[in-house]
Amino acid sequence: MNPDHLDQIVAEISGEMAQRVDRGEVASYIPELAGVDPQRFGLVVIDANGHVAAGGDADVPFSIQSISKVFTLTLALGKSGDRVWRRVGREPSGSAFNSIVQLERERGIPRNPFINAGAIAVTDLILSGHLPREALGEILRFMQFLAGDSSIVIDEAVAASEQRTGFRNAALANYMKSFGVLDNPVEYTLGVYFHHCAIAMSCRQLAMAGRFLAHNGRNPSTGHNVVSTQRARRINALMLTCGHYDGSGEFAYRVGLPGKSGVGGGVLAVAPGKASIAVWSPGLDAAGNSHLGRIALEALTKRLGWSIFGV
Ligand code: GLN
Repeated sequence: MNPDHLDQIVAEISGEMAQRVDRGEVASYIPELAGVDPQRFGLVVIDANGHVAAGGDADVPFSIQSISKVFTLTLALGKSGDRVWRRVGREPSGSAFNSIVQLERERGIPRNPFINAGAIAVTDLILSGHLPREALGEILRFMQFLAGDSSIVIDEAVAASEQRTGFRNAALANYMKSFGVLDNPVEYTLGVYFHHCAIAMSCRQLAMAGRFLAHNGRNPSTGHNVVSTQRARRINALMLTCGHYDGSGEFAYRVGLPGKSGVGGGVLAVAPGKASIAVWSPGLDAAGNSHLGRIALEALTKRLGWSIFGV
């Protein structure tokens, strides 16, 4: 890939997105997120050689929210290996990210690690044997290490805002606890979960952090092996099938890449062997995924022929 060509496409798409009036709805159920400017848009693509193509608000930190679930899953797999799959499944949910009915039918075992219940179960695994602040420190340091940037922090105001209003997540956690799926006190697990969702990162930092997923588990610039080839492939498979909740089918259909969204409006997408991509536009669609984020990624994969399903 010619870096100038990549720069040009990223600039074009960023320009096009700035003009759009359909921007979706900014999430308001976490009060602190409701005030984010819907005009924001950022896009960063980092190719296999480490070339960074950046457009729009590429360096403005935003709340990564559920994108953190990719990284907590990676940590939990490192700590517990396949024991993770005793607690959580690997199937698309076909329901909302915070749905509770499915948990009842399936006796407290969440469908996958990327819906809220599944991510809370994964956080509980990371927490076991640690104090909440140690577990949180481990997650934050992992993000800083992957992004090569020690300035990444947790937005305490967002964490506190969700802690005050996260009744649905508390219900999910208590419900799982009743089935013995969580080992730690519910308030500890939820505290760590809310705080890792509140990590603030820019598109540039996020695209950096996702590079190992695009390159067989290894950051090609630093040479760090983060996970095995097989594990990277499997995490990508889960991102493709479960990364956008009930919009995962539509995302695969339109974009054709593994991707994980968050209600902050960010999406991390992986073009295997080619690039790590982060996009941010705070307005969401009805499934809770970034509206323009998806449209921008669709334009990008179309113009570059990067869909994993063919050009
Ligand atoms: N912290 C958010 C929640 O638990 C994450 C949801 C999301 O990004 N989809 O509701």
